[in-house]
Amino acid sequence: MELKSIKGIGEKTISLLNSLDIYNINDLLSFYPYRYITYNISDINNVSDGEQVIIKGVICSTPIVRRFRANLNSTSFRVTSSSRMLNVVIYNRAFMKNNLVIGKLITIMGKYEEKKNTIVASNIILNDIKDGFIESRYHLREGITNKQISKYVESAFNVSNEVIDYIPEELNLKYKFIDKSTALRYIHFPKSVSEIKKAKLKLIYEELFLFMFKINYLKYVKTKEVGKEPKVVDIRKVQEFLSSLPFELTKDQIKAIEEIHKDLTSTVRMNRLICGDVGSGKTIVSVVAAYECFLAHYQTALMAPTEILARQHYESISNLLIDTDIRIGLLLGSTKKKEKEEIYEKLKNGEIDLLIGTHAIISDNVSFKNLGLVITDEQHRFGVSQRHSLRNKGNIPDILYMSATPIPRTYALTIYGDMDMSLIKTKPKGRKEIKTIIKSESEIKDVLYLMLEEIKKGRQIYVVVPLIEESDKSELTTVSEIKDKLDIAFNKKVSISTLHGKMNKDEKESVMKDFYSGNIKILVSTTVIEVGVDVENTTMMVIFDAGRFGLATLHQLRGRIGRNSLDSTCVLIGSKNNKRLKVMEESNDGFYITEMDFKMRKEGDLFGVKQSGDMSFKIADIKRDYDILLQAKSDSEDFLQKNIINGFKNQEKYIKIVKELKSLD
Ligand code: ADP
Ligand code: MG
Repeated sequence: MELKSIKGIGEKTISLLNSLDIYNINDLLSFYPYRYITYNISDINNVSDGEQVIIKGVICSTPIVRRFRANLNSTSFRVTSSSRMLNVVIYNRAFMKNNLVIGKLITIMGKYEEKKNTIVASNIILNDIKDGFIESRYHLREGITNKQISKYVESAFNVSNEVIDYIPEELNLKYKFIDKSTALRYIHFPKSVSEIKKAKLKLIYEELFLFMFKINYLKYVKTKEVGKEPKVVDIRKVQEFLSSLPFELTKDQIKAIEEIHKDLTSTVRMNRLICGDVGSGKTIVSVVAAYECFLAHYQTALMAPTEILARQHYESISNLLIDTDIRIGLLLGSTKKKEKEEIYEKLKNGEIDLLIGTHAIISDNVSFKNLGLVITDEQHRFGVSQRHSLRNKGNIPDILYMSATPIPRTYALTIYGDMDMSLIKTKPKGRKEIKTIIKSESEIKDVLYLMLEEIKKGRQIYVVVPLIEESDKSELTTVSEIKDKLDIAFNKKVSISTLHGKMNKDEKESVMKDFYSGNIKILVSTTVIEVGVDVENTTMMVIFDAGRFGLATLHQLRGRIGRNSLDSTCVLIGSKNNKRLKVMEESNDGFYITEMDFKMRKEGDLFGVKQSGDMSFKIADIKRDYDILLQAKSDSEDFLQKNIINGFKNQEKYIKIVKELKSLD
């Protein structure tokens, strides 16, 4: 049902709600609070000096407003509470004055100061609040308040006539879950902590059950799929190509290549994830796959998450395949119209064998003559439904994903349960470990010295600064401030450039070109260089305010250096006591680091806060709720087995899901 059907919601509110990913009544009902505040009313006769209290009181004096400066004012008045008289002072709420009338019962939150018989209030609620009242707090955008969301949710309950419960009846009974409508009520308007708990359990299980149901269904479909023609590959040509490579493949690369070869030449569609640390050499594995596909007279599409990466792939892959007959094309969102049309034409006629581009190449109306393989790089950026929407191009193309998120195997087995996996754990020979050191801000001189040493050796340096969302500073100012400081420190004798998201494509490109060619020695940027960018001569990375980045991001960033046999150093500027930074100092192993990341990650308050990356569950948290995930996995397998034979008879809701998944195919 549409949002419009709620009274009092107009166009403006709708667009605000849309910005919170709320598009209909169901989205609104499943827009869960991220935490709760419990109002336990204190008895003022029973509190001590300095304590945080919540009391109810009746206003008994006219409030007096004092203004100190333009942005500082105080409002004071007296209240009676539990037969005592108290002073209340609250800052910067002069606008409340007219609502604070004598005789009104209000709720005051703040700090009790015994000597002055005063409560310094942090908040005043203009009505009576029941002891133990629980308030839900939502993650919001400017322009919309917590109160409004509550109101809209309340109205949504009134207009919504169908709340679908995706847990099968027998499982609801087995686990004694509360019903879905009640769970939704409890989650938004709980009267007790126990209601929150019951609601959470129900909704988390439901979310994970549904997720695993989809994964299991897709896995099932895969085994039933018919019609894929096995690719016929001249293995001698592949061997020839492999032996022409300028390096020796690692054991895991060879194994992955073999696994992929088996998939390509089988009648079952490949659906494989190559999971390997940054720099483990996933690209060459996918290139071999594309080459085999070419030998079998099929086309390949390779997608990267950004234009920079797509371009880089285009260059390095063209290089690797230079002695073969494979014809490679590059298609980006920004490619000129005429050039695009030429490429479309060639794809249709089969004059391009390997097309490299951003995700646009699959969503645009590109048609291939004979697409046989789709490769997606950095797959963690694409969600479950997206990863299945890739499958609809061409006949029955094989699918290969590459992910540099080395998630622990146990988690991978569940959330990527619909895919086969090739793990690349061994590092290419001759790779040196990157030395990582933590430096505090007061040691910046040492850092500058290290940088200068590196420049003197003819090497290049990345400097990374975090994007600070809550600050007023733009990306541009943050980046250029650091550049200016470095210019001063190095007396402008070192060429320094900046790279950030606000630059247009041409600007970015020309900076990257100058950096590749070595004209630029130091590149100051935000995390735009996070994924894939590869400049071998860069042997140092300095990350400012490193504590602001997550472990996975730090590891990804660091992977930009140490790409050859030169000694590389990563300097993390931050606190020496920071546990996460210490993990970075200790280890270069992505699998270990992600495991630690999972271990150290905060659970989110009462609720799983939205997870970053691929797995964005609304309420579940795959780490915290891992046991539930396993249960949901096996329950959904049983359920699927029992019901798939009769096509989910009398189970409309599952038929609908299955149809949706099929239409993606
Ligand atoms: P990633 O897994 O992060 O995508 P890449 O595929 O970009 O890593 O490989 C990183 C670099 O290592 C590239 O320059 C690539 O040519 C090189 N490389 C890949 N495999 C090997 C190997 N077995 N030995 C030496 N260098 C390799
Ligand atoms: Mg890569």
